Parts: sequence; C-alpha cells; structure tokens
Amino acid sequence: MLMAYNEQQQIFLPYQYSREALQRYRRQMKFYCPQCQQPVQLKIGKYNIPHFAHIANNSCVQLFAEGESKLHLQGKVQLFEWLRKLGHTVKLEPYLQKFSQRPDMLLIKEQKQIAIEFQCSTISHEKWLLRTSGYENNSIQPLWLFQTPQRQSTQGIQKISISPIMQKMIIATARGLAYLVTYDANTSSFIYWTNLLYVHGHTFIGKVQELTIHKQHFPFYEPKSISKEEFLLYWQLYKKHCKQFVYQRLLHSKNGVQDSFLRSCYELRFALTALPDYVGVPVKDAEAIPMFSIEWQTILHHFCRRLQLAPHELNEGNIRSFLIQQNVELTNQTVQAIKNYVMVLAKSYKENDCFPDICEQVYAHLFAIATIY
Ligand SMILES: [Zn+2]
Repeated sequence: MLMAYNEQQQIFLPYQYSREALQRYRRQMKFYCPQCQQPVQLKIGKYNIPHFAHIANNSCVQLFAEGESKLHLQGKVQLFEWLRKLGHTVKLEPYLQKFSQRPDMLLIKEQKQIAIEFQCSTISHEKWLLRTSGYENNSIQPLWLFQTPQRQSTQGIQKISISPIMQKMIIATARGLAYLVTYDANTSSFIYWTNLLYVHGHTFIGKVQELTIHKQHFPFYEPKSISKEEFLLYWQLYKKHCKQFVYQRLLHSKNGVQDSFLRSCYELRFALTALPDYVGVPVKDAEAIPMFSIEWQTILHHFCRRLQLAPHELNEGNIRSFLIQQNVELTNQTVQAIKNYVMVLAKSYKENDCFPDICEQVYAHLFAIATIY
C-alpha cells in the first residue's frame, strides 16, 4: 500500500519524499495501517516505489492486497498524481469502513463518488462482481482500469483477443461505438481499443490507439468513428476469419452430411473455398447468437430457400422458428440480430443474388449512421 497514518493520524505518502528523507522518517516515526490500525513497515527499496507492508502474522484484510507488483504501485501513483494535477478531489487508497473496501482511488466529482481500481493481476469474475456490487450498493460508481495486456503494443486496426473479464469493461459512446480503455503503467499511457467489432469467441476487430497520460482528461476522451476506408480493413480481416472458420470446420466436422452448415452450403451450391460475400456479415447483436455469423447466415439462406422466400421477406414468426430450429435461445437480441442481417441484405440487394454495396451498407449499419438503425 502507498499510504499509512503517522502517529499524528495524518496521511503519509512515502513516494513524495526522497530516499534519504524516508530513511530518517523511518527511524523517527511510527506508521499505522488505516484499516486494522496495526503498525506497518515502511519499505524503501531501490527497485520498487516506497510503500508500506504489514508485519507478518497480521490478520488484516489488506494483507491480501500486498505483494502488490511494482507496476501496480507505479500505476496508482501516476493516476493519482494525474487526477490531482487536473484539479480533482481524489483520495489514495481510502478505507471505506462502512463496507470494508479499499479502492485504489476515490474521486469526488459534483457530489458523485467514483472508485477507481487499477487492476494489474487477473481477477476472478466472483471477486470482481463482489467488489463492484459493494461500490454500487453504497452509491459509488466503480471504474475498473486494467493494465494493458503486454501482447497489445502496436497501434492500428487489428484482431484483438479480449478475455471475458475484460469484455465486461467494454463501454459505448453516445452514438453506440463500443470501446475499451486500459492503462499501461510501463509507458504512462492509456491504450484505447476503439470501434470494437465482435467476431467470434473472444475475438474482436478494433482500432488500437494510444493517448499519453498528459493528454488524457477525466472523464476519459471518447473515441471517434472509423472512416469508410478504415472499415475496408475491418472487412478484409473479418472475411479472412470467415475463411479460416470454414477451413477448420471442414477439417474437424464429424457430422458429415448431418452438419447443417456444410449441408446448407452444398444445397445452395456454395463453393466452400469462395463463399459469397453476403454470408459472414458482421451485424449488431450477433454476439447473442452462439454461432459464428457465416454459419447461421448460410443456414438462414437455406431456410429461406426451402420457404421460397427472400431473406427480407421473412416475418417475425419465420425468424422465431428459424432460431428454435437452430436451438438458439429466443430473446429480443437474437431476433434483432437476424432482423439486422436481413435489413442489411435488403439495402444492398440489386438482383440475382447480387449485393454490390454490401460492405458499404455494413459500415453504415455498424459505424456511420449508427443512430438511424
Ligand atoms: Zn492492516
């Protein structure tokens, strides 16, 4: 921990002093844990940021947070100093006695309290939920900021794998653009994954952008939408993923003709090495359907063929029976995903299964005129 009380019950922040001064204070003063009130040791290493640690055999809950990494201590100091310089009222590691939680920082803004947690290590879903609801039940807004995963260091448009716990940190702009902000304490910069497009499993496509801490504001800057030209790159990456999916499916399918995806391809006379562009189309709400888009969309075309309907002629009842047939849970979101897909198809359809503007329509649907849909 970065703070403790001295004998006068004043907050003491060792990182603000030189090592020489701290060595003197260590001889002259005693320090106490704000949570359990027991004496704590001042640690002044050469490598780590000066901090406090409990004396062994102590039963303080705070002990669980110890063994804090250098990166965690470093990030906390950077974020705390940054918020202070911006003129915010912010407390470092305050102990919230009422519900025994100790956020990394507590910011008070227009009578609103925001608990900031800078998370460097992995955290279980249960622990995250427990701490989040602890704040929410006490009218404190939690803000989780994860240390940027190391593998994600380059900027630009790319495939991004996002762990389930980090997927919970995805937020949206007023216009509905999904994004995720992490903080890299190694480089003192915020890493944005913006314009996130869900692909499949933990895979997304996004634009990685970096903002150094000195340029950041609080609340954080919101990202802008990608351009049509940038979306072309998304489209190419998405289609590449579709190809890989079909290839893997062919390799591993054990169901043979019983595989409804492969059978639909066959009956629709689709060449597996060159599936048409209008199947495998990213649409909003598709993450609610536990199948990859190219799979359910191909089966949907086969379903339409049997009903002798064009996709945009499907009514609500047809859509529901399609989902039931595919063992997909009937929810507003799964129905909406299908509606979104047939709407994109209807808008780009010319004649004879020809969809010349499909990429443009998908861009409009996902990013450009988000509020119209
Ligand atoms: Zn303690």
